[in-house]
Amino acid sequence: QRKAELTVEKLYEGILNHEIPMLSSAITMIESTLDSDRVKSEALIKRCLPHTGQSIRIGITGVPGVGKSTFIECFGQLLVNAGRKVAILAIDPSSGTSGGSILGDKTRMEQLSQMKHVFIRPSAAGDTLGGVARKTRESIFLCEAAGFDTVLVETVGVGQSETLVHSMVDFFLLLMLSGAGDELQGIKRGIMEMADALVITKADGDNIKKANLARREYQNAMHLFPPKKNGWTPKALTCSSMANTNMELIWEAITSFENQTKINGHFFSDRKEQDKYWLRETLNEHILRSFYANEELLHQLRQLDNAVIEGKETSFSAAEKLYTLYIQQLSNGNI
Ligand code: GDP
Repeated sequence: QRKAELTVEKLYEGILNHEIPMLSSAITMIESTLDSDRVKSEALIKRCLPHTGQSIRIGITGVPGVGKSTFIECFGQLLVNAGRKVAILAIDPSSGTSGGSILGDKTRMEQLSQMKHVFIRPSAAGDTLGGVARKTRESIFLCEAAGFDTVLVETVGVGQSETLVHSMVDFFLLLMLSGAGDELQGIKRGIMEMADALVITKADGDNIKKANLARREYQNAMHLFPPKKNGWTPKALTCSSMANTNMELIWEAITSFENQTKINGHFFSDRKEQDKYWLRETLNEHILRSFYANEELLHQLRQLDNAVIEGKETSFSAAEKLYTLYIQQLSNGNI
């Protein structure tokens, strides 16, 4: 009810005033599937855009159990103690079906979540992973407008979601376990190639030796990858969130990445490339939505489903018919 009273103007002012409840409400609005909310969200994002872009956006991924939450709890505190304002968002590849699980349990970041200048937001639920990701990207903008200078985007390392996170962050951090092969961890080579830093977690106690060994192996493997266009040489590091070791080293890697790519121009040109990517993603989503929101098209789709099953129509000719119908609906102004 309260949300209904919030105009774009009020949300905008609240966000620029760094009011966290306003930021929360605005993100809830972005996540809403109501058409009226979507119109308001677009207006709000447009207004906020001139106040965005000043943060460092860091993607964090790794298989379940690698220690992402524990890492963010520890690393986040280092950042806050260094005077940074930290927003933590998540993209959950399972959220399309199950309604979100990562970051859902805030108690996993018990100390961090109670600190000032920290904003933690679990993954949005949504129909498509692409849609959830787009909303997360829009949330990044709102967090920046609300004064956050460091944005961490967490995702579970299972495939497509990394690519989406990679396309919205400046620095991509891959957490890995020692002693379990890449195959076992389900980490594909392509994902390792995207990483700007690969960090072996849980380097404490009996694990230290194994972690250092793994670090060297990965460092060597990474030399074989094609060099990055932005000139950055990815780092392989170890850390322990339990023993709180090497957190500074990781932050140093990120800041030196930022310095280096800001000097050579890639920091902002890479963001421009991301804008192009999201232009296409958003366009694709609009087109899909316009198709599936049309009753006549849905009706014909179901009819043609049956025709295909009965062998009266090939999938190709059915698709062709639907496309022609789509164009007709468009030109008749029904879409
Ligand atoms: P996530 O699923 O990637 O978010 O992983 P969690 O942060 O929930 O951690 C998974 C398990 O690993 C938990 O039982 C943690 O206590 C443990 N863990 C996380 N970080 C460390 C670490 O630095 N050292 C050790 N020994 N255990 C850790």
